[in-house]
Amino acid sequence: MKYDVIVIGAGPIGSTVARFLAEEGFNVCIYEKKKQVGLPLQCAGLVSRKISKLNPLPENVIINKVRKARAYSPSNISINVSKEDYVGYVIDRVKYDQYLLNKAIENGVDVFLGHKVEKINHDDAKVYVKNKIVKAKFVVDASGYNSKAVSKLIPAIQYLVEIDNIEKDCVEIHLFSKLLPGFAWMIPLSKKLARIGLLSGNKKDLYRIMDKYKVKGVLEKYRGFVPVPEFKKIYNGRTILIGDAASQVKPTTYGGLILGFSAAKIATEVLKEAIEENNPKILKKYHEEYYKKYGKELRIQLLIKKILSLMNDKQLDYLFRKIKENNIEELLSKYGDMDKYSKLFKEVIKKNLSLLIPESVWQRTWNFF
Ligand SMILES: Cc1cc2nc3c(=O)[nH]c(=O)nc-3n(C[C@H](O)[C@H](O)[C@H](O)COP(=O)(O)OP(=O)(O)OC[C@H]3O[C@@H](n4cnc5c(N)ncnc54)[C@H](O)[C@@H]3O)c2cc1C
Repeated sequence: MKYDVIVIGAGPIGSTVARFLAEEGFNVCIYEKKKQVGLPLQCAGLVSRKISKLNPLPENVIINKVRKARAYSPSNISINVSKEDYVGYVIDRVKYDQYLLNKAIENGVDVFLGHKVEKINHDDAKVYVKNKIVKAKFVVDASGYNSKAVSKLIPAIQYLVEIDNIEKDCVEIHLFSKLLPGFAWMIPLSKKLARIGLLSGNKKDLYRIMDKYKVKGVLEKYRGFVPVPEFKKIYNGRTILIGDAASQVKPTTYGGLILGFSAAKIATEVLKEAIEENNPKILKKYHEEYYKKYGKELRIQLLIKKILSLMNDKQLDYLFRKIKENNIEELLSKYGDMDKYSKLFKEVIKKNLSLLIPESVWQRTWNFF
């Protein structure tokens, strides 16, 4: 058997976990169905600065830096949040995916591009690819939202557009009941270029947002999918799921890079032990440790998303108005964190601000949970 681990998919998470394992001295290969990774672009490219603690981020991948966020209600009431220093990067995902794959190759990972995996035998780590069966000790399914393990998807549309006078360091989002649990975004790349997109398959909703920005021109169009975030079993026999394949996305924004890279660290430690002892039962630890570390945060984000998605446009407007009237923007600026909502959530509960949510919405939220 040539490989300790076969990784399926050379997306950012697959390339990262493959590299981490190779750095530990294991023989690793990646099968990737595309001939060129990263294309077509399926990402808004917004990540928190914390990313560089998890994975190297070269300067030439960073397109823009942001420190403010503005959220709009259905009738355009805005909430503003800002930090002194930059908190997020807007990155070139195509370049970044290629960079991460090259780093994996530099560290000794064998990469087979244009090789689509047709089937995985989880119990004996066999992978069916190009009329061949390849066997390893373990398999990592990092095949993104295409993975057979992903059951529910939300469509996304995103355009690269030209707009005049963009506030370059401010990300904007738009909430209205028709889109929820999705939302629309404007991510600035420069003073004149932005990515405008939404989680919905409906182009009309995108045009509604583009009209707000008086878009001057559309340069590129992309479509993609995000997995619906859910708690699920992320190991099976000799296989682990990771990244979008494991639905490891933030329930509020559906961003997947930070959680996926964090999961890659946990997966590497667990796989190391499992390979050394040749024991698939050890993979359970990956599931347990991932949910031990992120379960609470994911539950809070799921709750926030559920509350918002049960509100109609009038109730959303009311909530935004109350946030403004009660100076809650300051609290949001102080405790807001792109990746962790638990601190802010605690403050909201402490200050009894949950009273701003209509009673009927709470009722339906608890019924749901
Ligand atoms: C419109 C949009 C905007 C987004 N914006 C953000 C954002 O701003 N910030 C953020 O953090 N996240 C964002 N995301 C989510 C982010 O893009 C994903 O979470 C991330 O790409 C997940 O990485 P991955 O490696 O798990 O999967 P992917 O990037 O999907 O990579 C999977 C790889 O597996 C390959 N593959 C699939 N099936 C097979 C097979 N059978 N055999 C071999 N290879 C296979 C694919 O070709 C692909 O290269 C966005 C997503 C969308 C759709």
